[in-house]
Amino acid sequence: MQTQKRLLVTGAGGFIGHHLVRRLKADGHWVRGVDLKYPEYEASSADEFEILDLRKAEDCLLATRGGMDEVYNLAADMGGIGYITAFHASISRNNILINAHMLEAARQNGVKRFLFSSSACVYNQSKQKDPEVKPLREEDAYPADPEPGYGWEKLFAEELCRYYYKDYGFETRIVRFHNVYGPLGTYEGGKEKAPAAISRKVAAAPVGGEIEIWGDGEQTRSFMLVDDCVEGLIRIMASDYRDALNLGTDELVTINELVDIVCNIAGKRLTKRHDLTGPQGVRGRNSDNTLLRKVLGWEPSIHLAQGLAVTYKWIALERKKKEAAQSELVSAR
Ligand code: NAD
Repeated sequence: MQTQKRLLVTGAGGFIGHHLVRRLKADGHWVRGVDLKYPEYEASSADEFEILDLRKAEDCLLATRGGMDEVYNLAADMGGIGYITAFHASISRNNILINAHMLEAARQNGVKRFLFSSSACVYNQSKQKDPEVKPLREEDAYPADPEPGYGWEKLFAEELCRYYYKDYGFETRIVRFHNVYGPLGTYEGGKEKAPAAISRKVAAAPVGGEIEIWGDGEQTRSFMLVDDCVEGLIRIMASDYRDALNLGTDELVTINELVDIVCNIAGKRLTKRHDLTGPQGVRGRNSDNTLLRKVLGWEPSIHLAQGLAVTYKWIALERKKKEAAQSELVSAR
């Protein structure tokens, strides 16, 4: 077994944070989870779980107290494309506060290493206008023209990490996630991402029914199963690479193809109805993993169809459980 470390995961009540805590515990570490809320679908396996608001400097000092070796800073106000295009001011303000206060608190409390979860939304939008997009290399974030709000705020927090290393020698790692999906992730309510939203819609549709898709469905993306994401996070934290690194797959699909894969898994034939007024984000986005392979000698490798099969199964089951609970409630009245 590796040496036990004291680790902090912020955003531990959220999707990636929850999976990460489970994996770090399985690896034998002592883990504190922090969030505004507890995980929604399963209890956390953290040794300590604290409800704190990391927009406040004093809460960040509490979160990072007690001799933490490493901090995985995953807390953020975020959601799918509908959410991040609707709320520029509140998302930017909340995340700027979280990241600035978390970096400073971690430094003051003598944390040895700090990982910041950035996003593919930092990439220059003019390099993502074609569905046949050239995979994005880390340097394609500049000259800066990121996604309004969420992308700008992530790009600046990346810079802040660099300044903390330059001015204080504070060890930071920067990870640019490309669309993470998997079981135990939000699948309804407006914050869900495309794989979860599509799985939910397919599960809800009657055989031979319709499915609504935002845009013409020819926009392209790559998607990474959360298991690959967690593996990558741990490897990047352990590496000696301080600049930004992509963490995603380079298996590019259109949203229409994504729908076909999920329909196949569900064994349903559905007619696609395209809502051309719906938000769709950039036209094409893919991850270039050349640098990731060079730094880690590893890259995410779980195929989309394989990951979607487990994700769809989980969402379909959750929906059934919810429906059963609701009908029990109605019959009890
Ligand atoms: P998530 O929304 O499931 O988790 C984020 C968690 O942060 C939530 O549980 C939320 O309650 C918590 N949080 C928000 N504000 C907080 C505050 N003030 N104090 C304490 N906790 C707070 O999102 P996720 O998918 O698990 O994403 C984790 C990180 O990865 C985020 O930084 C996100 O921006 C980044 N990211 C994710 C994806 C993806 O595809 N999931 C893509 C790019 C970047």
